[in-house]
Amino acid sequence: MGKYSEKNVVITGGSNGIGFAMAKLLVDGGARVMITGRSQTALDTARARLGENVVAVRGDVAALSDLEALAERVTGEFATLEALFVNAGIARTMPLESTTEQFYDEMFDINVKGAYFTVQKLAPLLSPGAGVVLTTSTANVVGIPTTSVYSAGKAALRSMARSLAGELLPRGIRVNAISPGPVDTGILGNGMTEEEAEQFKAQQIAGNPMRRLGTPDEIARAAAFLAFDATFTTGAEFVADGGATQL
Ligand code: NAD
Repeated sequence: MGKYSEKNVVITGGSNGIGFAMAKLLVDGGARVMITGRSQTALDTARARLGENVVAVRGDVAALSDLEALAERVTGEFATLEALFVNAGIARTMPLESTTEQFYDEMFDINVKGAYFTVQKLAPLLSPGAGVVLTTSTANVVGIPTTSVYSAGKAALRSMARSLAGELLPRGIRVNAISPGPVDTGILGNGMTEEEAEQFKAQQIAGNPMRRLGTPDEIARAAAFLAFDATFTTGAEFVADGGATQL
């Protein structure tokens, strides 16, 4: 029996990066996991690496019809749902003066609206004692130029963890937020040239008290702790950033 045997879990954005590491940790511990993502190729690759206890479902979290289809799939595949990792997200930077309405709407549609309605559509399926974990970011407490839209969206998620925790507590469901600092995934250099991405990572490493980036597995373990072990914790934020926002 693994630590997560008989646990059914949904991870949005589970095909890559942090979500994939969450899926691997939980599947290795015996869970049955449904992962989502936008790229069928990435989902197929992830499914092949994770094995038969994983169901991969393509869908856009910004489309409510896709979230409804996901809820139906969960109902069909799993009798119960013990954890929900609301992790899908995009990170793009843009200075204030260049930010367009389209850029703003896309960031908020995926990172904020998508997260909110993921919880709304899947909450009815969560069993008593289940844990929901929203992936926010340490960007929600620091003022980094060019990240105003991303950071505001992540601050909204931090706030949602509190209010939704209050709403779901009567059903015995806990809602918490995991707040990663810079983690070495494809998202870090998004929209940058290879050289710019390397320079950005070097800056992040130099400014971090631990002098390194986080790994997806480190975030996955913290998120799994919130979902399954932190049974007296709800509405909280767990920061995993090498001490960058604390020291
Ligand atoms: P990633 O790009 O490696 O993975 C992102 C995942 O989200 C992919 O599976 C992708 O398919 C999915 N996704 C993106 N848009 C989607 C949409 N519209 N519908 C469904 N799925 C969608 O990135 P990551 O670093 O693993 O990021 C995961 C989460 O962690 C994000 O919410 C991100 O904002 C957050 N985060 C990352 C870092 C970091 O440094 N990597 C730091 C703080 C927070």
